Amino acid sequence: MTNAANFDSVMDITPRPPIVFVGGQGSWLTDSEGNTYLDFIQGWAVNCLGHSPRPILEALARQAERLINCSPAFYNDQMIRLADLLTRHSGLHQVFLANSGAEANEGAIKLARKWGAKYRDGAHEIITMDHGFHGRTLATMAASGKAQWEHLYEPKVSGFIKVPLNDLAAVAAAITPQTVAVMLEPIQGEAGVFEATIPFLRSLRALTRERGILLILDEIQTGVGRTGRLFGCEHAGVTPDIMTLAKGLGGGVPLAALLAHRDACCFEYGDQGGTFCGNPLMAAVGCAVIEAVTQPGFLARVVQAGEHLAKRLYALSARHGCGEVRGMGLLLALDLKRDIAPDVAALAMQRGLLLNAPRPDSLRFMPALTVSNAEIDRMTDVLDSVMTDVTKG
Ligand SMILES: *Cc1c(COP(=O)(O)O)cnc(C)c1O
Repeated sequence: MTNAANFDSVMDITPRPPIVFVGGQGSWLTDSEGNTYLDFIQGWAVNCLGHSPRPILEALARQAERLINCSPAFYNDQMIRLADLLTRHSGLHQVFLANSGAEANEGAIKLARKWGAKYRDGAHEIITMDHGFHGRTLATMAASGKAQWEHLYEPKVSGFIKVPLNDLAAVAAAITPQTVAVMLEPIQGEAGVFEATIPFLRSLRALTRERGILLILDEIQTGVGRTGRLFGCEHAGVTPDIMTLAKGLGGGVPLAALLAHRDACCFEYGDQGGTFCGNPLMAAVGCAVIEAVTQPGFLARVVQAGEHLAKRLYALSARHGCGEVRGMGLLLALDLKRDIAPDVAALAMQRGLLLNAPRPDSLRFMPALTVSNAEIDRMTDVLDSVMTDVTKG
């Protein structure tokens, strides 16, 4: 079927391999020819419970029978339940549900600008980090610090000031009367897994408080257990004024959330909305995911799996003359010390292993949070043989 498949009607936005996936279970994917793949991409850190997990299947089936959609202009029980769960676990006070990470971040930017208009004399600039990634809408592309996007889709949305990650003095120097917020990822995922240090996050929290501006954390990749805590900011003991979630929150379905402290909740009627925002079908899945990830022992197991993965990667690194392992929990990257990551990922795919190369010199690992040690060992065994063959040339 793969050979006969006609790809012409699918918009060509990225170089996709000529494989057609038709099934998934846990850490494994199956293509149309019956080949299986060990999946360490998981929809880009999205399928936190793996492919087609029980809790999501059950939530979808149960909710689809009860109520799928009833307009964002009405409350529904699942929207309320998910907002309750998220506020309870985050220490923030109100939630707006959305459909993608970019949409949640777009909402965060709007909320900050509204807050600036109301309380900061029209201040609207947001300080963001070089190499940061916040999504693909016009505003979130402008907020991102991707060099390749510098001149794409001009004119750009203005009002984003870039500084280097972990440079507190640069942030302090960039704050003006026009500044309304600082926005960043606790770990830059798309850039290749680079952490905001704990001292930097703590100092940023203090600095933004002192200067009377908002701290926005984009936890779209780091949230929902990915780093071994429910939210990445917990490692630093920091609570932002605004937080965004997506990816893992839906466990594979399109779901995102904008969370805010009550002092930042300043939308007025008509300022924010969206046809599918808060629909009960997706919200029911979000509840099932949060309930699974907050089960006693779940996050401890993520920490353990992350330690096992890091240990195996360090051993592999020593054998192949690679560098350090970056990241936390089950969001890790291996520095290969040479620009072979795309070749390694391509050969790994031929051998039934899906890996992501976010940079020419790095591989990123974002397996299901339910990945077993045996699957981790299987992954590093395949990677080991692939590294040997790629290095041989
Ligand atoms: C993936 C990602 C986004 C964008 O989310 P989409 O659902 O693709 O719009 C934004 N911020 C971060 C940190 C991400 O990893």
